[in-house]
Amino acid sequence: MTANHDSSNGTHPFRMKRLEETEVEEGVRYRPAPQSPPDSVSNETTESAETTGFFARGRDYESAYINHHYSKAERELLGTYESLDYLPPHSQAYKNWLRKQPARLDWDRWVMMGMIGFIVGIIGFLIHQCIDVISDFKWDRAEELIQDDEIMKAWGFVLIYSLGFVLLASLPVVYLRPSATGSGIPELIGYLNGTMVGKIFNVKTLVVKIWSCICAVGSGMPVGPEGPMIHIGSLVGAGLSQFKSDTLGFKLPYFTRFRNSEDRRNFISAGAAAGVASAFGAPVGGLLFSMEEVSSFWNLKLSWMTFFCCIISTFTTDLFDSAFSGFQYTGYFGMFSAEKNIMFQVRKGLDVNLWLFIPTVILGIIGGLLGALFVFINLKLARLRRLVMRKLAKIWKQNIAKWIEPCIIMIIFATLTVFLPALFSCSPFTCYLQGEKVSPDTYSPNCLTTPTEIEPEPTVSIYNCEPGVKFKNETSQWSNASYSELATLMFVTGEEAISHLFSRETHLEFNYPSLLTMLVVYYPLSCWTAGTAMSTGLVVPMLLIGALYGRIIGLIMVSIFGVQTEENPYWAWMDPGALALIGSASFFGGVSRLTMSLSVIMMEITNDIQFLLPIMVAIVVSKWVGDFFTHPIYHALLEFKCIPFLDHEPIIYDEHNKAVNLELHYARDAMVSPVLVLHTRETVHKLASLLRDTKHGGFPIVKSDENGDRRFLGLITRTELCVLLKQEDLFEAVEEPSDDAPELTPLEYQELIVDKIPIGMEDVLDELCNNEQNQNLYLNLAPYYNQSASCVHENFSLHRTYIIYRTMGLRHLTVVDRHNQVVGFLTRKDLMGFQLEETMARLDLQNQD
Ligand code: ATP
Repeated sequence: MTANHDSSNGTHPFRMKRLEETEVEEGVRYRPAPQSPPDSVSNETTESAETTGFFARGRDYESAYINHHYSKAERELLGTYESLDYLPPHSQAYKNWLRKQPARLDWDRWVMMGMIGFIVGIIGFLIHQCIDVISDFKWDRAEELIQDDEIMKAWGFVLIYSLGFVLLASLPVVYLRPSATGSGIPELIGYLNGTMVGKIFNVKTLVVKIWSCICAVGSGMPVGPEGPMIHIGSLVGAGLSQFKSDTLGFKLPYFTRFRNSEDRRNFISAGAAAGVASAFGAPVGGLLFSMEEVSSFWNLKLSWMTFFCCIISTFTTDLFDSAFSGFQYTGYFGMFSAEKNIMFQVRKGLDVNLWLFIPTVILGIIGGLLGALFVFINLKLARLRRLVMRKLAKIWKQNIAKWIEPCIIMIIFATLTVFLPALFSCSPFTCYLQGEKVSPDTYSPNCLTTPTEIEPEPTVSIYNCEPGVKFKNETSQWSNASYSELATLMFVTGEEAISHLFSRETHLEFNYPSLLTMLVVYYPLSCWTAGTAMSTGLVVPMLLIGALYGRIIGLIMVSIFGVQTEENPYWAWMDPGALALIGSASFFGGVSRLTMSLSVIMMEITNDIQFLLPIMVAIVVSKWVGDFFTHPIYHALLEFKCIPFLDHEPIIYDEHNKAVNLELHYARDAMVSPVLVLHTRETVHKLASLLRDTKHGGFPIVKSDENGDRRFLGLITRTELCVLLKQEDLFEAVEEPSDDAPELTPLEYQELIVDKIPIGMEDVLDELCNNEQNQNLYLNLAPYYNQSASCVHENFSLHRTYIIYRTMGLRHLTVVDRHNQVVGFLTRKDLMGFQLEETMARLDLQNQD
């Protein structure tokens, strides 16, 4: 996320534009729409906003320093999301339950982390093997047909095969689990920030996600499995740690103490990290990714545990990978070879030279620009998609359009893949034997494509060119051995294409036409594919696109300065493969704006520590440039999906285009007043009416003194009130509390409050309200309200109020005066950047009046 936005007081150039373009509705305050929690952002509930047409008008490119201003419909959608408290309510009942818990060391936490890492590692291994089997069969068969001059047959085969898998990938997502769409990373980030996103951690979502990811990537779509692996990891963390499933209807009596928001979120963070660790073979990168991008709450202990989880995950995937290739047993069980376990093993280390930093900075700038453009187009397409789907829904079934869209992309991509290489001439095969380049007539099966490598590079694609590895006759003669550059990049999975682009000392393996063509085809199609109804990720496209323009820059330099390697090792860094690596990092950085985690991931996937410094420079430059134009992709998608998110720091501008220092403002400036409060003892009728007539998630508990002053005691949530109102045994006919008042036992409390979210409360509330007797029945709330609910003084700095709210993972924050009387209330939506900006604008107006 944009964790470290520059909060300087300067005027931002894009700011004026935003104020001119955005409709700011004066005085509009959010009130939640009466809807159930959304089932992930991509499905049903988003339609309520779509029908108002606001998405078509919404702005979709904003510098990372500018708050997105939500339209009226978007606010309604935003309001359907509920927040989560990070810590459990500290009530008397909770303390009683806690006292009954046995004292434990943390060994069970480590065991759970290990189990999560192991399961994620196995899933990662299975996904990769399946993808390899599916895609290898397709490309081998297609190439055979093309070499036999059966190009139309090859096209037909690729089309049918790919479309079959695209349908298998999208149909379950559209009809069974829309929450499995995309990578799932924005939803995951939103959840860990404290917003409840429905059905993203459900066992059905897990199954559909795995299935859809395998089929989508295997089909050859321009996507990768890494993004979904992160969601899959978090799904495993969320499910396994609870040892229960509402969907499957079981609840085991183990690890029950992890059934709370804090532990669950920690396991989800660890699972996400394990997903990265397994997908990239990068345990440290996984840990840093979870810390930098995914999680909002982090501590040192969680780092250690997540690190352990990542180690187990990478170890498991590598161990099984060592023994199997395409599900065939290789006989090398336990052999952690670099060739297999390092994703893009760089075979030739190069010395870094000061001059390298010039193209590195250029690549960083290109990465930032192209990355920002990628985010911009991605959002434009996402809005257009919603608009078109809405229009289609009137004349057609909308769901049909959802799975037809990826099929159209596949038809275009498969057709271009099969026919485009035919438009390019073949390139001569280079052969090195014992480091020496040999002439075509002495080629042999031991040919290497670079002078220094030990094993052949990933084999190039012959397409319809003369084969370069076949003997013509007994005398071992070769004739016109050549290959197709474009097919070498297109007739493989994205990961293999990246390996080709990273290959070093193969300066002329790819020339401008093939690289530019691939870039022009891949960039828009991967951008289009990203939001379709399949479980797909963007990492492979990001690396591939960056590698393409990085290699182009490398070729330009080689064209200008000539191939320098043999004459002078001082210039050996000027290698298109080396610049492709820096290009990949720059584009990944330009789109995602990751920094530390990306640097480490790039190092772990290439094994090239020598290039760490240029990679870091390219990443930082691309982040600076990208941040100037758009939000990072996941942050932009969070806004697009209207998931309420609180960044680390509030960044607010006033209407005069100046950064607002919230230290100069007070909690009372942003609070909502008056507040609906409750006493420790209320009639059942009053409670039921309050819950029926409002949608608020929490109510401060107060104690009225003889002067009528209402002193703040704590807070009770809507969920807790709902659960208590369902327990008729707790109702009392006397107004004054008695010593033997009925109370939930600690176990009942744990079962009811922590585990259960009441469903079908509308009917219960109606019934309670309509029953006159309930006016004389009382409910004692004293044992159940949160006695450690946070509150701030009304003159407390607004900046610090935000930081307290954000860092403590609060859902509600009560504002009190100097007599400890409740004067205001703050929730997540009151503290969102756009809301604070509107509040400040209103205050300015009031001050002028
Ligand atoms: P969330 O939706 O984040 O889970 P919530 O449901 O408690 O929290 P909302 O209902 O979303 O809060 O709050 C909507 C608006 O109503 C906010 O401006 C908030 O300050 C205000 N609000 C919330 N609770 C109360 C209350 N008890 N009395 C008065 N205003 C409230």
